[in-house]
Amino acid sequence: MKIVLIGFGAAAIGFIQQYKNSKDEIHIFEKSKDIYSSSISGIRADGKLFISNEMGGNIDIDLEIQKKLVKYYLSHLSEPKYETGKSFGNIEQYKQFYEKGFQPVLADFYHIGTDQLKQVLYSIFEDFKKFPNVNFNFNKNITTIERKNGKVILNNEFEFDKVVVGVGRSGHKLVKKIIDKYPQLIMNNTKVDIGIRFELPDHIVEELNKEMYEFKIRYKSKTGYMVRTFCNNPSGYVVTENYGEFSTVNGHSKLKGKSKNTNLAILTTVSLTEPFNDPIGYGSHIAKLTNILAGKNKVILQTYQNFKNSKRTKHIYRVEPTLNENKYILGDINLAYPRRIIESIVDFVEQLEQVIPGIANSDNLVYAPEIKFYSNRLNNMIFDDLKFIGDCSGATRSIIYATAHGWLLAEKMLKKIATTGL
Ligand SMILES: Cc1cc2nc3c(=O)[nH]c(=O)nc-3n(C[C@H](O)[C@H](O)[C@H](O)COP(=O)(O)OP(=O)(O)OC[C@H]3O[C@@H](n4cnc5c(N)ncnc54)[C@H](O)[C@@H]3O)c2cc1C
Repeated sequence: MKIVLIGFGAAAIGFIQQYKNSKDEIHIFEKSKDIYSSSISGIRADGKLFISNEMGGNIDIDLEIQKKLVKYYLSHLSEPKYETGKSFGNIEQYKQFYEKGFQPVLADFYHIGTDQLKQVLYSIFEDFKKFPNVNFNFNKNITTIERKNGKVILNNEFEFDKVVVGVGRSGHKLVKKIIDKYPQLIMNNTKVDIGIRFELPDHIVEELNKEMYEFKIRYKSKTGYMVRTFCNNPSGYVVTENYGEFSTVNGHSKLKGKSKNTNLAILTTVSLTEPFNDPIGYGSHIAKLTNILAGKNKVILQTYQNFKNSKRTKHIYRVEPTLNENKYILGDINLAYPRRIIESIVDFVEQLEQVIPGIANSDNLVYAPEIKFYSNRLNNMIFDDLKFIGDCSGATRSIIYATAHGWLLAEKMLKKIATTGL
């Protein structure tokens, strides 16, 4: 049998790891020019591997499988150098947060760092290449998939028996085309996370960073919205991400080359009801509005005090931004963000001040837009010859969950059992 896998990302890695050395041919079509420019986002930038039952996706992944996959990635490092942490392993810390209304999220972390990631990816690729049934095709952007006479045809050109789509979030155009054609694949999605990237001096969160590397908490704010921390980067850098139609902020950190600031996302989950059915459109419009105010491809930077009081920032004080000064303007995020989202974030930060003194300092920095989209959840039980793995399936949101998704789906396909629960 000839299986085609679209995208060489985290989910594809899990899938190929199962299928390499099988009787089936695996053909990988990746749009990046070559392995060096391949764009596995989380594996290229930062590379924090989590083991947790409370985050990473909407499917259940056994902790033992998660541990095994973390080990797998670490085994591809040229030297065993990485940072680790345990979120809320310390019960006293857990209690402190819990008492003030926060829900601490339990997880173990392994941080590889942006600088070592290329090498890990390259080493995995070199291993896969050795297997005669695994064939890589770079520089192949797949724009159409057609199911015809028991075959699947890509770009009106390449014919296979089955297709597995693992295009991550960057492949949303292809996924949209598929679901426009087969709307029965869509299970549900009405959620989008809208928030800010927060930046503050390391020393304010030093203890937490040392103890856990990444502290993850959730909080039900007074507006009723859930607010959460995400992607904490001790001694890290704020960066922008260009989505073509708009730019957002993100953060990362390196193993070598540290800054003096910690950055983290503070996100509000907006979940709307019918007739609303376009969370991606809603989030994109807010991002574009923020960009319009900031100027092309730029984001807004504001001090926390000004953000809270809806006042344009004209000067910053003690905290030096790590984002390149050509990428932002000083402004007022309140002109672009709905009031309920701002109120939720401010309530979160003010409450957090009771556990982390200094987090609500007036001169800490707030960047926007920081938006995380949830892909439509797709049903892998509809077609036998068309499956989805990783973030594009709406089932995952992290490297380990995406890898596990590919790995588990491949296992079921190899054993020829129904892909229920995936
Ligand atoms: C900046 C950033 C940092 C992150 N950091 C972390 C982190 O530290 N830890 C963590 O757990 N998660 C992190 N994530 C999330 C993580 O990257 C994803 O959850 C994970 O990579 C999803 O894996 P995937 O295989 O579904 O998609 P991806 O890894 O994104 O891979 C998809 C692949 O498909 C290719 N592709 C897309 N469209 C097409 C097409 N039409 N034709 C051919 N090829 C196509 C892409 O080029 C890409 O190589 C981060 C995400 C971002 C954006």
